[in-house]
Amino acid sequence: MKNIIVIHGGAGRYSARLKKDENRITKFIEEVLKLGWEELINFGSLEAVYKVVSKMEESGLFNAGKGAVLNIGGEVELDAAIMDGSKEDFGAIGSLKGYWNAIKLARIVMEKTDHVFIVGNGAAKLAEYTGLEKFKEPLKKRVKQYNELKNKMLKGESLFWNKNINILKNLYGDTIGAIALDEKGHLASAVSTGGIWLKLPGRVGDSSIVGAGFYADNRGACVASGIGEIIARFMLCNKIIKLINDGLDADEAAEKAIHKITEKYGKGNCGVIALDFHGNIGISFNTEMFIVGYVTSETLESFILKNSGANIRSLGFKNNY
Ligand code: ASP
Repeated sequence: MKNIIVIHGGAGRYSARLKKDENRITKFIEEVLKLGWEELINFGSLEAVYKVVSKMEESGLFNAGKGAVLNIGGEVELDAAIMDGSKEDFGAIGSLKGYWNAIKLARIVMEKTDHVFIVGNGAAKLAEYTGLEKFKEPLKKRVKQYNELKNKMLKGESLFWNKNINILKNLYGDTIGAIALDEKGHLASAVSTGGIWLKLPGRVGDSSIVGAGFYADNRGACVASGIGEIIARFMLCNKIIKLINDGLDADEAAEKAIHKITEKYGKGNCGVIALDFHGNIGISFNTEMFIVGYVTSETLESFILKNSGANIRSLGFKNNY
């Protein structure tokens, strides 16, 4: 069995901001992959995805943890989940306010409570009770972006996005997720996000909905990024894991599911990373860009994959088992 970690830093629009930060982001992903690799070979897949996502939340470079985007009221509300494929057990949190380390709280839900999903005030109370570090204030760049978006809205460029997919397409990206396989054959997944700009307070996206934004069992692991409402309606990760269980390799399963979601909902809405128990890697997306990286015993790579027409683009790496 091979050791592998695959991570993503969000699927979405290739914005000017992202273009400017491209080198910083890919370098950071490489560093994080190295840290994750140490965890993976010493402690296994669950520790690896946990470490990677915690570090990415802390960096402020992504739409998660300290760098999360703001809701319509100018507040940060976080969603996150972690899943141990070997036990088919998970923990998730939704709409967490006041604390930044959302993946830590999701893990606490999985390991220290009898529940699988805790939201809102209850999540904040659990964070307080377990002594999580407080979230101080949104990053300056996020407040600036928030004000710009809100001004557009006040000028009559409606950003009320529930039914407005074209506007929504420009307002998401750089969520984070990780999947890993260890030499015992255990798979795990973890995901964390601030959701989508100007969401209504209390909105929970796909990232903490099991089978939508994440899943892991003993045959496959997968996490998604993009417009949570579409990913949840389609149950994207559930479909991919089912295809893997039906005998497809992770790369074939990811590509097939992205084709199907694109047929149904159009392009420009999501990306996914998937792994199967043989060690095959699938990366597939229909957005302008997808930030990804992976590490195996032979290679370590990170890139911002681009896709100018936002058609479907897929990368697959076969493990020669
Ligand atoms: N899927 C996330 C959500 O809808 C956002 C993202 O992936 O950027 O909450």
